[in-house]
Amino acid sequence: MYDVVVIGAGPAGSMAAKTAAELGLNVLLVEKRQEIGTPVRCAEGISKENIERFFEIDKKWIAAEVTGAKIYAPDKTEVVMSEEMAGNEVGYVLERKIFDRHIARLAAKAGAEVYVKTTAVDFERKDGKVKVRLRRLGEDWEVEAKILIGADGVESKVGRRAGIIKTLRMNEVESCAQYLMTGLDIDERYTYFYLGREVAPGGYAWIFPKGNGSANVGIGVLPKMAKKPAKEYLDAFIERERIEGKIVEFVAGAVPVYGEIETAVADNIMLAGDAAYHADPITGGGIANALSAGYYAGKVAAEAVEKNNFSAEFLRRYDNLWKNDFGKKLRRNKKLQEKFLEMSDETINKLAASISGKNLKEMSVRAIVAELLKAHPKLLLDLKDLFM
Ligand SMILES: Cc1cc2nc3c(=O)[nH]c(=O)nc-3n(C[C@H](O)[C@H](O)[C@H](O)COP(=O)(O)OP(=O)(O)OC[C@H]3O[C@@H](n4cnc5c(N)ncnc54)[C@H](O)[C@@H]3O)c2cc1C
Repeated sequence: MYDVVVIGAGPAGSMAAKTAAELGLNVLLVEKRQEIGTPVRCAEGISKENIERFFEIDKKWIAAEVTGAKIYAPDKTEVVMSEEMAGNEVGYVLERKIFDRHIARLAAKAGAEVYVKTTAVDFERKDGKVKVRLRRLGEDWEVEAKILIGADGVESKVGRRAGIIKTLRMNEVESCAQYLMTGLDIDERYTYFYLGREVAPGGYAWIFPKGNGSANVGIGVLPKMAKKPAKEYLDAFIERERIEGKIVEFVAGAVPVYGEIETAVADNIMLAGDAAYHADPITGGGIANALSAGYYAGKVAAEAVEKNNFSAEFLRRYDNLWKNDFGKKLRRNKKLQEKFLEMSDETINKLAASISGKNLKEMSVRAIVAELLKAHPKLLLDLKDLFM
């Protein structure tokens, strides 16, 4: 019998387990992979602010520090955001293999039990508790919990089984493919983003440097708009950009680009991170919100145990916390994504040309949109209230 069982040891789950254990709860963290953090289905980019909010930086899990971003329109018009222009809001490229393990280790240090190579196969709510069926090496057994935290990633089984989320539609998820490449000749001070319906329909391609000539080179496409699998777009992108280097890893994955769900709770249950569609609909970035949501879920679990109240009504205070933190941004960036999907490559070229060479004060989606609104008040009229 545990106070909390957390399913999934990604950033959301390990953060929830760490927080709940630090607050004195009896916690079990369950991960189906045999090694936490691998394979890395992520380009590993995060802003400094978002990580420093929760952790003291340890160089072991920072692969590279970037001082700006370069965005390329379909006709290759370049928009640059650099440190001199952007102030302090720059970013890290993490080494998630180490970072994810670090958070799980902190959870264990705080007292959480951690089971790897263990899959949560089912659960049932009964008598105010949750019975969770676990499976390891063909052996099944059950544990009981007052609270179940589903941090089991995109297409969360916990979330669907609890009736909180449904299967994502073709326009609510990005299908991604990524290589880790070495021997690259790139300016490692920047992350690179490439837009265009030909290059990446409904998404973008990226190069995120990891130091010493290596980088995550990947692509996300919207299945509704894509005519072929993400990997074929990635290969075409690498050929088009004449990116020369050796491929040492390949991963495929998905990112929810849903926007804000109404609630991430049910009786005895909270969802956090990708499981609750917390990733950003325009950038696909989900590490930061997963960390925040995991932190809030752990905190509310402790309050629920203290008050001995595990009802959905009580757990809605978790909804309030994550919504106050990043709910507005999810709503706003979903609208922006819908607008972006309507745009032709010509429109994107025009927009990029109008801000190319401008002094972008902040390295964020908001800063770009603010600049675009100045240049095209009519074209983006419906975004004005959201962004200004
Ligand atoms: C190609 C790609 C590139 C990306 N790039 C970035 C980026 O640069 N920056 C960024 O911020 N975000 C990026 N993202 C998104 C980011 O990776 C996710 O938003 C983030 O990992 C979400 O964390 P999470 O803890 O919610 O879920 P995950 O990290 O997906 O963790 C879920 C965990 O649950 C485990 N699990 C699932 N089911 C079970 C089960 N039944 N039993 C036990 N364990 C289970 C899984 O094995 C997994 O370890 C990218 C995603 C992809 C696919």
